[in-house]
Amino acid sequence: MGKSETIWVCLACGKTSEDRYGNKNTSHGWDESCILNSVQVKKSHLIYNSDRSRVVGIKDPRRLTKNDVKKILDALDEEARQIKKLSL
Ligand SMILES: [Zn+2]
Repeated sequence: MGKSETIWVCLACGKTSEDRYGNKNTSHGWDESCILNSVQVKKSHLIYNSDRSRVVGIKDPRRLTKNDVKKILDALDEEARQIKKLSL
């Protein structure tokens, strides 16, 4: 896959980085946890939140393992909990 077609996405927090180790075009706060939890995804498959600061979903998860998908679902659950907290 071409370098520019893909991006690393942290499945724990939704931050992105062109380079897994955070050297290039990286979300603010890309850290060790992001490196460990990241997977390489086609940019065209990403679903962003409203201000495009975080990835909240992946359109074509066929390349991901079941465990990766579980992490995404857990992250979305966590996000839903945070939103609920804020709206209380
Ligand atoms: Zn992260």
